Amino acid sequence: MTRSAARGSVAFVGAGPGQADLITLRGAQRLQRADVVLFDALVDPALRALAPDARWIDVGKRGFAGVAHAPGGRENTAQETIDALLVKHAGDGKRVVRLKGGDPSVFGRLEEELAALAAAGIECEVVPGVTAALAAAASARRPLTRRGGGRSVALTTAVTRDGQLGAGRHGDTEVFYMAGKQLAALARKLVEAGWPKATPALVVSRAGWPDELATEHTVAGLADATLLHSGRPTVVTVGVGAAPIAAAARPVRLVAERVAAEEARTAP
Ligand code: SAH
Repeated sequence: MTRSAARGSVAFVGAGPGQADLITLRGAQRLQRADVVLFDALVDPALRALAPDARWIDVGKRGFAGVAHAPGGRENTAQETIDALLVKHAGDGKRVVRLKGGDPSVFGRLEEELAALAAAGIECEVVPGVTAALAAAASARRPLTRRGGGRSVALTTAVTRDGQLGAGRHGDTEVFYMAGKQLAALARKLVEAGWPKATPALVVSRAGWPDELATEHTVAGLADATLLHSGRPTVVTVGVGAAPIAAAARPVRLVAERVAAEEARTAP
């Protein structure tokens, strides 16, 4: 499906962190109308069914190991190639979808790609997606915010641009991306940054997939998760939002009465 208009456009679409059905309806619709799809490594191949006639181009350059581990030159070249491909295909009048894992605005190099398109004067749109931190919270049933004690959430990458491990304390709940390979070191850095050793820590890998795995630890004991999650994309949630939800103290009978009253009120 080639558009005859002189200028194409780019839609950055968040695919979600796992199975294809975690994409938004808007994202799916953009895929259905795409001529060209540039996709990342962690995206579910089942999404191809939404755009079987589009040209699918694999630009996955980093896997989940973290781009910072790649030698500097190679990494830059890969990003520049992606920028150039976006500009070229949109410049040829194509409707381009740039399909990214999770949400495009979270650790997705979106700023570089937006800047390249702005410089070329190409129209673009960003369609949000479910980021890994949210899928992990959902699957483990551990809300990231808690009334009373959990008022802020920080999303943090555990590795800096030059491959160094970094950790701080920026929220009541903090979710670390790209930390899976260095959990023992992360534990040390977290304690240095002021997190008490007994702070709850939840490690979730492959969130949103049928084989997702969630394990419970403390900050000091994070190294125990290393083997369990090895080789899998992993987020580490630390703080209030990592704690399990205790069963409600209120007797269920009272709640049932309220439900009955509400049903009576809203009955057709
Ligand atoms: N834009 C993505 C993040 C890309 S950075 C998002 O919004 O989710 C890649 C990192 O994301 C991985 O190193 C890992 O920390 C995390 N990640 C991506 N998919 C994940 C998944 N299904 N489960 C757990 N962590 C995941």
